[in-house]
Amino acid sequence: MKIICIGRNYAAHAKEMKSEVPKEPVFFMKPDTALIIRNQPFFIPDFSEEIHHEVELVLKINKVGRNIEEKFAHKYYDEIGIGIDFTARDLQARCKEKGLPWEMAKAFDGSAPLGEFKRKEDLPKPEMIGFHLDINGKTVQEGNTRDLLFSFDKIIAYVSRFITLKKGDLIFTGTPEGVGPVKINDKLEAYIGEEKLLSFNVK
Ligand code: MG
Repeated sequence: MKIICIGRNYAAHAKEMKSEVPKEPVFFMKPDTALIIRNQPFFIPDFSEEIHHEVELVLKINKVGRNIEEKFAHKYYDEIGIGIDFTARDLQARCKEKGLPWEMAKAFDGSAPLGEFKRKEDLPKPEMIGFHLDINGKTVQEGNTRDLLFSFDKIIAYVSRFITLKKGDLIFTGTPEGVGPVKINDKLEAYIGEEKLLSFNVK
């Protein structure tokens, strides 16, 4: 099982990061040791002073595919969930400065808390899904897939040109604006629509 993450997939987030809006999807990976499931707590690692939350919708791949055509991409997932792409922003800034890969800032253990999944047919159309993240009861990030730069189908088609997708693989589809730091004792709750699908504490 692998975790593929799309970067800069909402223009307003690319702007807040002072990054260019990409012409093609940007992707990177996290290992399976990044996952936190069943609402287990997230422990702030000792190597970063600035861990940022990035709430993202997550696709669960349901069969093997490579070089998937965009028009068939919808057949490769039937569940959508929500997760956090935790990012050590201070380390990422140093990597970017030197033009180095981001793995240490993005792929560390526990960097991918993952909530429950919903069946696609129980959600609005893939281009009309609203989601948000609350911290300590206050909404800090709010997104809607109508603002995606690259649709779910485009992402699947693009990534599968380079990497074979397999059943159980996860695709984090990018974060909307409003990323920011988390601190010890924060409670994070992520929703698709009004349904809470992920809830955990920072320790
Ligand atoms: Mg992200």
